Amino acid sequence: MLRFYNTLSQQVEAFTPARDNTVRMYTCGPTVYDFAHIGNFRTFTFVDILRRWLRANGFGLDHVMNITDVDDKIIRNAVAQRKSLKEYTTLYTEKFLEDCKTLRLQTPERLVPATDHIDDMVEAIQRLGARSHTYSSDGSVYFRISSFPGYGKLSHNDFSGNIAGARVDVDEYEKADARDFALWKAPKEGEPFWPTALGPGRPGWHIECSVLALKYLGETLDIHAGGVDLIFPHHENEIAQSESLTGAPFARFWLHAEFLMVEGQKMSKSLGNYFTLRDVLDKGHAPEAIRYLLASVPYRKGLNFTFEGLKSAATAIDRLRNFKLRLETDCYAEGHNEVLAARTAQACKSFTDSLNDDLNTAEALGAIFEYIRDANSAMDSGEFRGGNVPAAQDLLKLFDSVFEVLEPRAAAGISDAEVELKVAERTAAKKAKDFVRADRIREELLEKGIILEDTKSGVRWKRKSP
Ligand code: AMP
Ligand code: ZN
Repeated sequence: MLRFYNTLSQQVEAFTPARDNTVRMYTCGPTVYDFAHIGNFRTFTFVDILRRWLRANGFGLDHVMNITDVDDKIIRNAVAQRKSLKEYTTLYTEKFLEDCKTLRLQTPERLVPATDHIDDMVEAIQRLGARSHTYSSDGSVYFRISSFPGYGKLSHNDFSGNIAGARVDVDEYEKADARDFALWKAPKEGEPFWPTALGPGRPGWHIECSVLALKYLGETLDIHAGGVDLIFPHHENEIAQSESLTGAPFARFWLHAEFLMVEGQKMSKSLGNYFTLRDVLDKGHAPEAIRYLLASVPYRKGLNFTFEGLKSAATAIDRLRNFKLRLETDCYAEGHNEVLAARTAQACKSFTDSLNDDLNTAEALGAIFEYIRDANSAMDSGEFRGGNVPAAQDLLKLFDSVFEVLEPRAAAGISDAEVELKVAERTAAKKAKDFVRADRIREELLEKGIILEDTKSGVRWKRKSP
């Protein structure tokens, strides 16, 4: 039986979708103002494991993820680089999707850029206004928290007494606080805006998630997920908006992933203690090792990032692959060992039970490695028979349908001459100040296992060791 810890009830609860065996799930997507860091990818990897395990339980999925393509940081960066918002966010959306692919993260059924739905957001804000949940000030529109009695039920904070009247208009969630929040923001000097019935401006961050979730998934989601830093104020605000609009519970289950940490602190852009996925790949680490590391600690536990940890992840993957190879290539005596068959079935059950238990990935991996240890010694002693191979392979298949690290990335061959040609192309692109193209070439080569280094005496390149 599948069970999740629900932030809303603070209990572990049995999970099934409310309707027709399909899980309606919303997860908060990236803010595309820069490359995502591997901390962000811890949360996205958790969502990927969640998706895969829901499917393994036989449920259908309708999963919506937004792309936050308008916010303070995006506007600041786009204006500084004299780019249009769309130009700027398209680039980083592409980079994000490339990174997801590299980490083998499944694409949600619907991936929705927030700015595709400005009209829906305006309409929702008007409806909130008609129900007296909003007030306007200096061209911006704010949500009046005192109009929503349930405020605080997700973060289990008691806000009575300190919320009236005050407001903030930042949407960088590190800076937000318990007070009224902006639904619609009037443009500051030089900022891009949409001309709408609410006046010129742009939507706040919180309203985009409520509107996209309600539009695509209906009044009540089965699951809403994100990182723990989103519980307050973002998800609390999503609940206030959505439930004020519909009168129905916004989500049945709220799942939140703990942080990827560096030396005891949250990995974050603002602390500067972060690595992008590309930083880690450039150091020669395999994407599978990064995926494995991010998935290996249960999502409700903090995960301390170290390069030692990455090396251990690579070693663990080697063990798994060696076992898979051994199953494929060793010669086994005919027949079927019943004891071993029972051992395989038990490993399968233990793997399944662990993931059913609020996605306990560490225990699930433990079950697999204990099995591999036992199976390897049975192979050494000749007890492992030909008839035991298919069940062992099925177990690995089940494992890999969730963790997906067994197959190495296809190493597309590229000759030295082809590399030289690409390097020359990139140098020309850089000279012409076409940095987007230069970056693309760099990544294309990286995908083929070629690492470029810009040095004073020109570009050096090397092949990544396997
Ligand atoms: P953002 O692009 O800033 O909106 O963040 C995207 C996702 O990454 C959100 O779900 C955050 O909760 C999550 N996140 C940010 N920092 C970390 C971290 N250090 N560890 C895990 N998740 C994080
Ligand atoms: Zn959200």
